[in-house]
Amino acid sequence: MQSIRRRLTISYALALAVTIGVFGAALYFGRREAVGREREARLEARLEFEANFALSGLQRQARFFPRLVRAIPSVGSRADTTFDLLPEISGYFQGMGEDYLFVADRVGRLIFVSSSANELEASALSDVRDILVRVPIVARAGRIQLTPDGEPFRYYLAPVRGAGRDISALLVASRPRDEAVYGPTELLLAMLIVAPLIFFASIMLGYWLAGRALQPVDSMIAELEAVRDGRSLHRRLAAPPGQDELARLAQNLNAMLARVEQSFVALRRFTADASHELKTPLMVLRAGVERSLTDPQTPTEIAAALDETLRLINQMSDLVTNLLTLARADEGLASLVLRPGDLRELVAEAGETAEMIGEAQGVRVAIDIPDSAVTVAMDPDRIRQLLLNLVTNAVKYTPGEGSVVIRLADQPEAAVLTVQDSGIGIAPGDLEHVFERFWRADPARSRSGDRPGTGLGLAIAKWIAEAHGGTIQVQSRAGRGSSFMVTFPKAAASEPSPLVEGEG
Ligand code: ADP
Repeated sequence: MQSIRRRLTISYALALAVTIGVFGAALYFGRREAVGREREARLEARLEFEANFALSGLQRQARFFPRLVRAIPSVGSRADTTFDLLPEISGYFQGMGEDYLFVADRVGRLIFVSSSANELEASALSDVRDILVRVPIVARAGRIQLTPDGEPFRYYLAPVRGAGRDISALLVASRPRDEAVYGPTELLLAMLIVAPLIFFASIMLGYWLAGRALQPVDSMIAELEAVRDGRSLHRRLAAPPGQDELARLAQNLNAMLARVEQSFVALRRFTADASHELKTPLMVLRAGVERSLTDPQTPTEIAAALDETLRLINQMSDLVTNLLTLARADEGLASLVLRPGDLRELVAEAGETAEMIGEAQGVRVAIDIPDSAVTVAMDPDRIRQLLLNLVTNAVKYTPGEGSVVIRLADQPEAAVLTVQDSGIGIAPGDLEHVFERFWRADPARSRSGDRPGTGLGLAIAKWIAEAHGGTIQVQSRAGRGSSFMVTFPKAAASEPSPLVEGEG
């Protein structure tokens, strides 16, 4: 779930970063464009104002002076500088500041150039002249590159009327000045500061939202995890209200659980019925074979065959009994009657059985039992079955000269039974399977042979231990022997004669 939440948050973060980026870029370029246009418009208005100011100045002076231009004789030269505005008038224009002012006469000669334009190169002046020579009927604006670098100048060209015959046009030129407006650079800086904050706040929000959206899935997983085995198949998921995807998922999973439960119940029923039906014919068979074996008239070779048959019948009856026990446990029908009792007697009994079967195999059996009673709430028949399964396994999987130790310890919280052997042991990879039904380690897999078995003994032992509220654990190393440890809690033992139904 964490990974889906992370993936969702990462995708969301990427989408958000792209959106913020695109939005920011659009805002930045849009603002830049708008600011550019505003500056140009302001500049144009200023140029128009200055041109009109110069024009009205010229017209006013024309009322006082018959001619506004004077000719300065210059030997053999027809250069522009030989004509210029009267000093009284040009003085009036010197206050124009940084903006350029050019005044031209009828033939396009510059008769006034503002002092700010002194640094302009000759080529720039000739470009200005080219514009001034074509006097427009109405004023017009345009662009001109007056300096080799930097942005072009905007100019305002106005025809001059009412200022005498000599002056025909004037031109004011300037560049936009960088005024303190909230321009694109400030906007960019503001975005660079604000965008990460928005970004991180949104990611946190996205992470939280993804968690909230996935929360029902999380609880569904937890509920499904609780369905661990056939016994918890009756559980159902809490379907969220409505008909959204999660509700449909829960409904489908519930329908699937119902079908699986049905198959499980049918299978259990079949196993229970089949084992039950097989029990009686097997008993009849065994009785018949035993009778024939005890008959002195039975020939020796037939007796040998009957012996083998009896062995197989016994093995089959064990299998059927074990199957029936587990099938009943699964159905919850194998009830346990728990009563406080002393475990020592049952352990001693199992120890004697182990000694008996161990003797035939050359396996030494030691029993270690405390002196005082070890009382737990128990069903003696089931405990006997558990002990028998563990001790017969211990002897069965221990070769001659080996040893088996059966130990009972009385601890404050629990009685602990350990059955330890020095036998063939269990490979590490097999340890997790030993309590599974029908599982047998590879060398022991054949159901007959040296070590016959059904693979159900430990599954039954586990069920019995758990039905008593206890646990069963195994420690083993291949070739070094195994140790099975069963704990029985003592809490139940103090209650007066409780009857506890073992949940199979
Ligand atoms: P089985 O009838 O085969 O003994 P169990 O359920 O009792 O069935 O045991 C399952 C398998 O666990 C056995 O086949 C064997 O491989 C392994 N096993 C059980 N007890 C021991 C033991 N004491 N030492 C080694 N292996 C064991």
